[in-house]
Amino acid sequence: MATDASRTLDNTSLANHTDSIRQLQATGHDFHQRGWSLATSSNYSCVVSRDPLRLLITASGKDKGRLEKDDFVLVDADGQPVGTTPHRSSAETLLHVVIARRRPEVGAVLHTHSVWGTFLSARARPGGTVLLEGFEMLKGLEHVQSHDHREHVPVFDNSQDIPYLAGQVDRWLASDDADRAHGFLIRRHGLYTWGRTIAEARRHVEAFEFLFECHGRLQMMPPA
Ligand SMILES: [Zn+2]
Repeated sequence: MATDASRTLDNTSLANHTDSIRQLQATGHDFHQRGWSLATSSNYSCVVSRDPLRLLITASGKDKGRLEKDDFVLVDADGQPVGTTPHRSSAETLLHVVIARRRPEVGAVLHTHSVWGTFLSARARPGGTVLLEGFEMLKGLEHVQSHDHREHVPVFDNSQDIPYLAGQVDRWLASDDADRAHGFLIRRHGLYTWGRTIAEARRHVEAFEFLFECHGRLQMMPPA
């Protein structure tokens, strides 16, 4: 039986999270090839412990197409590193942490910088949302049963002040508006989405990216 000491040790060493690391490496490889995580952008995390909260997250500045097994950092509920690591965690670690704190069912958070997400977020009004509706692909989002679903994706203004941005996201996540949401955009920056597992969060990225491109291309077409 594991002792308290050994359980604590489990979440301070990357060596104890090889399966999660392999899944996030594969995610980075795929997302880089699809153009959603270029030029070292993006960051990915998964929850490895709920009590105390511990996240495994990509280290800052790494090529997401070629993540090495030690290009990750374990962080606590405040986004501070746990255990010894030669790397800093992503600059946007706090955004992952507030999502994991507000949503106890969340097991993974994925953040991408795609062309279509960036394009649509740039066009949204201040305080606005991107409204995705009427597409069959909406059923790729968890609990959505029909193309009739309306997915409001809020757009937060970009900021290099991550604690400020995380505070805004935290307040939104605590509001009724976020009850059925699957993600949000940061203006001219990218998408954050999540899932109970890494696989579910990946499905949400794929669904959102498909929907963003369809929505964006339709807006560019002249009226029929
Ligand atoms: Zn980013």
